[in-house]
Amino acid sequence: MAVANKDKIKQIYATLPQLNCGLCGYENCGQFAVAVAEEKASPFGCRQNPWVGYNISEIIGMRVPVFGYQQRFYQPIFAPRSGPLPSLESLGKEVGELLKGIDNILNRIENLGKKKA
Ligand code: SF4
Repeated sequence: MAVANKDKIKQIYATLPQLNCGLCGYENCGQFAVAVAEEKASPFGCRQNPWVGYNISEIIGMRVPVFGYQQRFYQPIFAPRSGPLPSLESLGKEVGELLKGIDNILNRIENLGKKKA
C-alpha cells in the first residue's frame, strides 16, 4: 500500500470538482483524494467528473492510454440526428397535427363531462 504523500493529495484535490457531494462513496473530495493517493480508490472514482481521472493518473504515476480519453472527451453527448434536418414547413405541419390531436382529446373529455352532468 502506498503511503499518502501530502503534495500528491493536494494535487489530486486541486484536480477534483470540489463539490463534496459524496457520490464517490467518500464524505468529501478531500477524503477521496487521500484514498486515491493511498491507492484505495480508483483515480476515475469521482462521479461528478470521472475525466479528471486521467489527470489524477498522471499525478500518481499511473499510465493510462490517452487516445481513448481524447476520443471520448470530444464525443457528443447526444447522437447526431441521422438524415437531413426537417424543414420548418414540415415541422409546422407536424406540430399542427399534434395540436389537432390534443384538441380532439380535450373535446372528448369535455363531452364526457357534459354527459355525466
Ligand atoms: S464524487 Fe467527486 S465531487 Fe463528489 S465528493 Fe467525490 S470526488 Fe468530490
